[in-house]
Amino acid sequence: MEETGQMDIKSLTLEELSAYLNGMGEKPFRAKQLYQWMHQKLAGSYEEMRNLPKSLRERLQEETVYMSLKPVEVLTSRLDGTEKYLFRLNDGNVIESVLMRYHHGNSVCISTQAGCRMGCRFCASTIGGLKRNLCTSEMLEQIYEIQKASGERVSNVVLMGTGEPLDNYENVVRLIRMLTGEEGLHISQRNITLSTCGIVPGIYRLAEEKFAITLALSLHASSQEKREELMPIAKKYELSEVLDACRSYFGTTGRRVTFEYSLVGGVNDHEEDAVRLAGLAKGMEAHVNLIPVNPIKERDYRKSSRQVILNFKNKLEKYGINVTIRREMGRDINGACGQLRRSYMESNKGEEEQ
Ligand code: SAH
Repeated sequence: MEETGQMDIKSLTLEELSAYLNGMGEKPFRAKQLYQWMHQKLAGSYEEMRNLPKSLRERLQEETVYMSLKPVEVLTSRLDGTEKYLFRLNDGNVIESVLMRYHHGNSVCISTQAGCRMGCRFCASTIGGLKRNLCTSEMLEQIYEIQKASGERVSNVVLMGTGEPLDNYENVVRLIRMLTGEEGLHISQRNITLSTCGIVPGIYRLAEEKFAITLALSLHASSQEKREELMPIAKKYELSEVLDACRSYFGTTGRRVTFEYSLVGGVNDHEEDAVRLAGLAKGMEAHVNLIPVNPIKERDYRKSSRQVILNFKNKLEKYGINVTIRREMGRDINGACGQLRRSYMESNKGEEEQ
C-alpha cells in the first residue's frame, strides 16, 4: 500500500476516517455510513455501498486500497466441523485462520503476522522466520471473510494463530478497538483472548490500555531452565519477570490470566513440573489450559500419553488450580499452528520465492 501511495482504508478508525473524508469536503455523516459498510455490513467493494454518491465511490476507488482476502484453500474437519482457511495476501504471502464451533458460539483464531521470529521449538509457524507484520485490515478481514463464508456470527476472537501479537503491538491494539467498537462487529472485549510468548514490556503496555480482554501466557515450562529449552524468548525475558508482568496485568485490569501449557512427552510432563506449575498459578489465580503438543514433522517432540495428561491435570486440581485440557479441534486438517501454511508453502515453493 505504501509503495502505491494508496490509503489502507479498512485500517482506519472511525475518527481517522472522519478526518480523511472531512479533508475531501464530505459531509460528517458520510464517514459513519462508509465505516458501517466496511465493518458491519462487510461490503465486498465500494460498488455495494449504494447510499454513497457515485463520485465519492469513484474517488475512493482511486485513492485507497480496499483490503479483501480471498481464501485459497478451505479445509473442513469431519470430526468437529472446524474449518481452516488459508488466505493469500496482496503481496503473495499466505496466512491461516481457523473457525471453531463451540456451544457458546463461533470462535475465530487469527494470525497476527506472516511467519514469526520467536523460535519456539515445537511450533511450525516460526520455522521460516518472520515475513512481516499484518496490518489491521488484514487481521479484520480474516474474521470478516470467515463470518461471510460461514454465514454465522463470530462471537469470539483468539489471537493465537501464526505470529506474536505483542511483536505487532500498534496494529493489534487498533484491531481490538475496531473489533469491539459499536460501529463495527461490536464483539465483547471479554470474548477476545490475546496469547503471548511473554514479551514483558508489551504486557505492561497492554495492561495500560485497560481492555477487558483475556491475556493468555504461553508458559510451557515451570522452571527457567526448561522454558529456555523450549522457547528462546525466555532468555530475553526471564520467567520471574514474565510472571511479575502477569501479576501486574491481573492487578491493573482485574482479569485473570490464563497459562497455556503444551505438554511435551518426557520434557515438561513430570509430576514435579505439575507441582511447580501449581505454585506459579496459585499465586495469581491463573487458569491453566493444558494443550497436548501437536507434533510437527520438523521436530521429534511427541505427545504425552493420555494417562500422563490426566495425572498432570489431577495433580494441579489437588492444589486447587482451575485447569482444562484443550479439546483438539480439527485434528484431521493440520490443526496445529502454522502447519497448513507450512505445507502449502512447501508444495508451492517456486511461487513463494518470486
Ligand atoms: N505467539 C503467541 C500466539 C501464537 S501460538 C504465543 O506464543 O502465545 C498459540 C499457542 O499455541 C501458543 O501457546 C503456542 O505455544 C502453542 N503452540 C504452537 N505450536 C504448537 C504445537 N505444535 N503444539 C501445541 N501447542 C502449540
